[in-house]
Amino acid sequence: MVKPMLRSRSIKKRRVRTPGNRLMTHFERKKPNVAKCGVCGKPLHGVPRLNPSGIRKLPKTKRRPERPYGGNLCSECMRKLFRKVLIKQNI
Ligand SMILES: [Zn+2]
Repeated sequence: MVKPMLRSRSIKKRRVRTPGNRLMTHFERKKPNVAKCGVCGKPLHGVPRLNPSGIRKLPKTKRRPERPYGGNLCSECMRKLFRKVLIKQNI
């Protein structure tokens, strides 16, 4: 019997043939959902679909786009937000 935490159906099971010709079960966590824009809900580009531990292993530049609000807002919503702020400042 496997560990209780591995009995969950939310964990993917994969049968793998090892180099020693044994059939083993590998347990894999499911991929998290795609990162979405906080305003419009569109899927974000440049954000990898990895769990937190996988993202921590990446360099910071590969975790999100390097622009203000990168990884939270899509580029269109960021531009709209900045335009709003600039218009407010001018008046
Ligand atoms: Zn958006």
